[in-house]
Amino acid sequence: MSTTALQTFIDPPRIRRQLAEGAKASAKDVAEVLDIAAEMKGLTPEQTAILLGNADPELWDETFRLAKQIKQEIYGRRIVLFAPLYVANYCQNDCLYCAFRCTNDDLQRHALSDEELAGEVRALESVGHKRLLMVYGEHPKYGIDYITHTIEKAYETKTADGKGEIRRININAAPMDVEDYKVLKRIGIGTYQVFQETYDPEVYAKVHPPRTRKADFPWRLYSLHRAQEALLDDVAIGALFGLAEWRFEVMGLLYHAIDMDEKFNVGPHTVSFPRLEPAHNTPFTTNSPNLVSDEDFKKLVAVIRLMIPYTGMILTAREKPELRREVLAMGCSQIDGGSRIGIGSYSGEEQGNIPDRQQFSIYDNRTLDDVIRDLAEMGYTPSFCTACYREERTGATFMGIAKHGEVGEICQMNAILTFSEFLVDYASDETKRVGFGLIKDEIADLDERRREMVEGALKKMTAGERDLYF
Ligand code: SAM
Ligand code: SF4
Repeated sequence: MSTTALQTFIDPPRIRRQLAEGAKASAKDVAEVLDIAAEMKGLTPEQTAILLGNADPELWDETFRLAKQIKQEIYGRRIVLFAPLYVANYCQNDCLYCAFRCTNDDLQRHALSDEELAGEVRALESVGHKRLLMVYGEHPKYGIDYITHTIEKAYETKTADGKGEIRRININAAPMDVEDYKVLKRIGIGTYQVFQETYDPEVYAKVHPPRTRKADFPWRLYSLHRAQEALLDDVAIGALFGLAEWRFEVMGLLYHAIDMDEKFNVGPHTVSFPRLEPAHNTPFTTNSPNLVSDEDFKKLVAVIRLMIPYTGMILTAREKPELRREVLAMGCSQIDGGSRIGIGSYSGEEQGNIPDRQQFSIYDNRTLDDVIRDLAEMGYTPSFCTACYREERTGATFMGIAKHGEVGEICQMNAILTFSEFLVDYASDETKRVGFGLIKDEIADLDERRREMVEGALKKMTAGERDLYF
């Protein structure tokens, strides 16, 4: 794959033309696209641009309603939980929006030692986490050897009672070459995330100063193609909303998903849509001309759900609990809980944000137990399931199952089992009360064969077995 070619699958004049055309579409055109979206086969760029150009509040309400319906049909009531773990905050890049940028002299830099890393992992395990997203800056000292070492260390680390363990590690790390991706494949990571940050090459050039490695737009744009070449097939895209105009970014995400699907017969496993948040000593984060309002954030989430219905959507603790509750219903399938993003802060004393150790501020600082109880009260089944990855149901295999609706059945049963395990081992009394009530209803909704399978597994759990899945 040539990464120096100027022509990429992102064609800004074409995207702008499509958006301009979309903005001229009539209410009837929007309604027609919504009918097509209801078939859950995804949308073309032209159709997506029509939804993005809609100016009618009632049709937006209809878009939100449809996003909720699609989420319900494909993902049911499950929400997968994970925790981000920042391993080092050294970085050689100079991204204008990030507190880790090399010119930020006011940041406390640190890379976790092996002992500190084990302490962080144990702190996460002792509240019930099973899935991590390990996050890295980009620095020559912390290349592939450091990344693999820290991943292996985290997998190895268990709590003394034998119950706490990490079963899946996803990573967010800078683009690599195919050889390095083969190493990641070999050691067994879950999903590999690279966010393009912005799909608008002009804005990209403004926020990533020349001379830095990150300034190479195509190197980043094709990073997940290289990962696929290395057979690392669960890959995740994302855009940092707030850099360029939000509608343009939605189109960029769609073109990215389409190109991957065309070349590798599988789209991205998940999509992330982080919003730019204030960061220590980083004025750009509050001055950017394209900051996204809550209202527009809801719109972009709903349109993403409609345009790529089978792609998991990740909603992070960057957002406040109230907005998370609202947006969750519109198609999100994964959220983080109990997140702390200051280096070393899971095992430390300090609560909440620690600005001069963090990449940016987060606004949902609730504990994992609180997040889980809230989800259960809203009728969602929190899931810590890691079965697909361990059964090698990844990449095209996973998408094949997803598109035939089988994910729903297997995942729902595994969600019940992993949620029960959380309740038994880690939950507060109040969360247990709400959670077991929900599980009773969930089991009652299963057909007889599946109910027997789940009840059989729950008996084994009562007898002390753990990590049960189908
Ligand atoms: N250094 C790696 C790279 O460049 O790919 C990992 C990036 S960083 C640790 C993870 C993501 O956080 C970035 O890709 C970016 O989208 C997001 N991020 C950076 N600054 C942010 C901010 N101020 N607010 C919200 N998200 C931010
Ligand atoms: Fe470094 Fe990533 Fe932050 Fe850019 S976004 S400064 S590459 S950690």
